[in-house]
Order: sequence, then C-alpha cells, then structure tokens
Amino acid sequence: MAGISGDAVETLRAGMTGVVALASETNYDEAVNIWNGAVSRRPAVVARCTTTADVAAALAFAREHGLEVSVRGGGHNYAGHALTEGGLMIDLTPMKAVHVDAEARRARCGGGSTWGELDAATQGYALAVPGGFISHTGVAGLTLGGGLGWMSRLAGLSCDNLVGAEVVTADGQVLRASESENTDLLWALRGGGGNFGVVTEFEFTLHPVGPIVHLGLFLFSPDQGTDLFRFARSYLNDLPDESCAFLAGLSAPPAPFVPPELHFTPAFALAVVGFGDAAAHAALLAPIKAALTPIVEMATPIPYVALQQMFNESAPWGLYAYEKAVYLEELTDAAIEVIVEHQPRKLSPLSFVPIFVLGGAYARADDGSTAFGGSRDIRYVVNISAATPGPEGYEAEREWVRAYWAALVPHAAGVGGYVNFMSEYEADRVRNAYGSKYERLQQIKARYDPGNIFHLNANIPPAS
Ligand SMILES: Cc1cc2nc3c(=O)[nH]c(=O)nc-3n(C[C@H](O)[C@H](O)[C@H](O)COP(=O)(O)OP(=O)(O)OC[C@H]3O[C@@H](n4cnc5c(N)ncnc54)[C@H](O)[C@@H]3O)c2cc1C
Repeated sequence: MAGISGDAVETLRAGMTGVVALASETNYDEAVNIWNGAVSRRPAVVARCTTTADVAAALAFAREHGLEVSVRGGGHNYAGHALTEGGLMIDLTPMKAVHVDAEARRARCGGGSTWGELDAATQGYALAVPGGFISHTGVAGLTLGGGLGWMSRLAGLSCDNLVGAEVVTADGQVLRASESENTDLLWALRGGGGNFGVVTEFEFTLHPVGPIVHLGLFLFSPDQGTDLFRFARSYLNDLPDESCAFLAGLSAPPAPFVPPELHFTPAFALAVVGFGDAAAHAALLAPIKAALTPIVEMATPIPYVALQQMFNESAPWGLYAYEKAVYLEELTDAAIEVIVEHQPRKLSPLSFVPIFVLGGAYARADDGSTAFGGSRDIRYVVNISAATPGPEGYEAEREWVRAYWAALVPHAAGVGGYVNFMSEYEADRVRNAYGSKYERLQQIKARYDPGNIFHLNANIPPAS
C-alpha cells in the first residue's frame, strides 16, 4: 500500500473496536462489494466502524495520511460513491442498532442500518418510518438525499421525518443535530446528502402503519399505456392520504398471479396501497376496474414488511445499473406520449421505470424545513433505470435511459432532479437539483466541512 506504513495501519487497528481491512485481507471483499456491479473501485483501507469513536479514529487516519474518504451506508448509491479508489472507506455496515420508543413515536438507528432492519423493529409496534421501495437499501443515503416510498403521501419523505442525528464532522468532532442543537446541520441533513459529516445515528418520527396493509396491483399491455396514464392522472388526484399509488413501466414478473405466457413481457403497472381497512381499499380499486381492462389484477392484504420487500428480488446485488430521473407536475399528453413511446424500447427485462406518485403529506410538508430540492408541487418522479445481469447489453440499456430522459426533460418541472436517482452528476445538475437552497447549503458546508473532505456524493462545494 503506497505511502502508508504497516505500523500506521496497526496503530489505527489498535485505536478501533471495528475491523480494519486492507486488500486481500478477510472482510475487505465483503466491504467493497456494493449494490451496483458496474462500479468497482479499490480503497486502500477499509475501516469497518462499530462505534462513533471508530469513525472519528478513521477520519483522523485519513487526515493524517491525506487519503480520500468515502462513506458506506447501505452501499446502494448508483454512482458507487461508497467506494474510493486508493483512499479510505468508512464502512458503517456494522452500525445497525435500532431503538424504538413506541410511546414517544421515535426510532433511532445506526448509520449502517437498512430499511428492512428498521422496518422489522418498528413494525413490532405497528409503527413505521417512511422508507424506500426496496428494503435492502440503506437508511443513510436514502434519507440524506430525500427518501421516496410507499408512505410519501401518508407521512412525507424520509428526510421530512428526520428529527435528530449524531454526526462526526470532518475535523472529528461528534455533534448532535436536532430541532434545538445545530439546527442548520439538521436542516442540511434533511435532503442535502452526505456532504456534512458521517451520520452515526439517525432519529425519526414514527407513524402508525399496518402491520397489515392492502395492495392492489394491475398490469396492462404496452398498447394500453396511453389509456392507463390518462385515467391515472385524474384518478390519482382524488386519492386519499391514507393510500399510495405507483405507476411503472416494467416486464411482467414471473409471479404466481401472472399467467406464465406473460412472464417477462413488457407491461405497464398501477399499484394502489391502502393503509386503512379492506373495504376502504376495495372502494379505491373500484374505479380502476370500472374504467380499464387490465391483463392481470391482484388484490390482497399484505404485511407492511412484505410490501417493503416486494421488489427486493427484482433488484438483486451485483446488477449493472444506471439511472436518471425527472420530476413532473402533471402527466400531460405530451409526457405520456414520451413514456409510451420510449418504454417498450428497453431490451433488458430487469430495466424498470418506477413512477412515484406524490401529493398528500409530501405536498403539505413545510418546504422551508428541509434542504430537499424538489418542489412540493411535484406530483410524479419518473425514475428511468437500466439494469442488466452483467456487462452484456449494459451500454445499449444505458443509451435507452439517456434517450428516454432527454425526451422527457422538456416536460419536466425545472431542470434539476432528485440527487438519489443520479448515476452521474453532470455540470450543474446538483446545483439545479437544490435550486434556491443551494447557496445556504454551501454556507453550511463551509461551516462543517470547509475542506470538502466529504466529496464522494452529490457534491456541494463549500462557499468560499
Ligand atoms: C435497488 C434500489 C432501490 C432504491 N429505491 C429507492 C426508493 O424507493 N426511494 C428513494 O428515494 N431512493 C431509492 N433508491 C436510491 C437510494 O436512495 C440511493 O441509492 C441512496 O444513496 C442509497 O443509500 P445507501 O446508504 O444504501 O447507499 P451508499 O452507497 O452506502 O451511500 C450513498 C451515499 O450516501 C452517503 N452516506 C451513506 N451513509 C452515510 C452516513 N451514515 N453518513 C453520511 N453520509 C452517508 C455517502 O455520500 C454515500 O456516497 C434506490 C436505490 C437502489 C439501488
């Protein structure tokens, strides 16, 4: 390992409770194995932190040896920013402790927790934090960038529900951010990404959910797309907050409720989740059945934790993946035309275009209380994501994403986008993603990370 002596590494080892791994040592390969198989970088040192003090020790080591720092939460960032080439990776995977205070409706979890782990603990009390759609994703990156999922209409984004955090800053200080301490830091952590320090613990507000919720899932053939989206834009406007919906362009899954001849064929989907009782959910589905003729339909009660895991197998670790997204304020005829035209051009059955439906609590949240850059008037987030099992076909699928995205951009709300759905941060995309909040984020960055130590992210350089 160039430039770092074995003695220095031994000193770091002695100063940490967690494991320090160099390439070819036990634990290294597991730590550098991230979700996106298309990204491979080799950190010189991996610090698998088990405590906040470990994180401070690892940062001190990086400072002393001039090493680039990357931070790994759940390892799902599409750009693979959990990995540094030749630097030091702070791996929070071992920090997974979850504490639930059901009475206070608060949950705390370690910086390396996944949504599956947090959901499992909170659902023991029929409570939940709004998370993402796939439960092996990390709580950290998803929350720090925003956090869209089944509960967005019920309770807002993950970051809207972040009420406190323990943070190790670039200079090794351990700070608490809350509504009464370091309030600027809390604001920045609510959507401003991993720019401000290493979050060793998150604290969230909990909401009553489940444990059983209701799912209705409908599939449509590609030529039914226009009718589906035109119906959906008025139907979705009338949805009550105790429900959530999801549109998608996908390949029909090889699931028991899908006839075998449809498996892996291109389709559009509409899913509607009800957080109330079965009768209320049936009433929600009735207009869909009256207006449309799906090729597959399924309605069932489902544990909330199973709903959160429903797409897990469709996005396994190691896929070659690439994505871009746009915000839409409305499903205009022109936007529908683009979706219906470009969707069937994908070649990989694993490529998937989830369209997150907002409104409800998302729309009512106080926009000024978070750094999240998307306007609260956005109704849809169209996430165009390519995935192939390996390198074969990946380039073609990536071009499909780029062409689809470029065609949708003229219909988008603003030129920014959601930082958690960016595989690349082209010129000004991060600035545009934060719009008028960008300068305040730069000021806060200058206060907590003036040297831009944490730059492997949707980077916000410090104000000079
Ligand atoms: C299969 C899949 C499904 C997804 N589904 C959704 C979804 O439904 N909704 C949604 O909103 N997003 C979704 N995403 C996007 C997701 O929000 C981002 O990929 C996010 O970065 C993942 O966080 P992570 O902790 O797993 O990733 P990591 O790669 O570990 O971290 C991403 C970045 O966050 C920062 N970071 C991580 N941990 C910490 C920490 N503890 N302290 C400080 N900074 C940290 C670092 O900058 C790091 O580079 C999905 C992604 C994938 C791959």
